[in-house]
Amino acid sequence: MNEEFQDHQIRDIIRINYKYTMGGQSKFFLELMKHKKLLGTKCTKCGKTWMPPRINCSDCYAPADWVELKQTGTIEVSTIVWYTTSAFIKAIPYGVGFIKLDGAETALLQGIFSENLVPSKIKKGKKVKAVFNKEREGKMTDFFFVPEDEYENWISKPEYEGGN
Ligand SMILES: [Zn+2]
Repeated sequence: MNEEFQDHQIRDIIRINYKYTMGGQSKFFLELMKHKKLLGTKCTKCGKTWMPPRINCSDCYAPADWVELKQTGTIEVSTIVWYTTSAFIKAIPYGVGFIKLDGAETALLQGIFSENLVPSKIKKGKKVKAVFNKEREGKMTDFFFVPEDEYENWISKPEYEGGN
């Protein structure tokens, strides 16, 4: 290669069709999509309840059983999102946080939407409730959390509904 050599570059787009499996976690996504249930798992040895679910306990490695959790929880930590990927750009600003569902011992990272999004509305310790998309695909984006006092407003919108 001499000093005059220059790489020839062509810009193009590669499209890839693919599918992936949720494996042992499939039940969580299927119950979410079909029945608006939020399933965690409970360790058969130490009894710890995991959300997001673990097929085997991450503490003692024993198998865990599926358990249905309540759809209310408490914010452990949160932030407001101002920069995001193209998939969520229309939703900004929105909150995200780690939510500990009532009955679970671990917290789930999920979106927190509010009609009046200010830090005090989604701060640590605030109670939230799950709202579900009417059109669900078996994905984490099938549901989100809202402050408890906004729940009735959110589920009255045509594209959303309450859980069980
Ligand atoms: Zn365990």
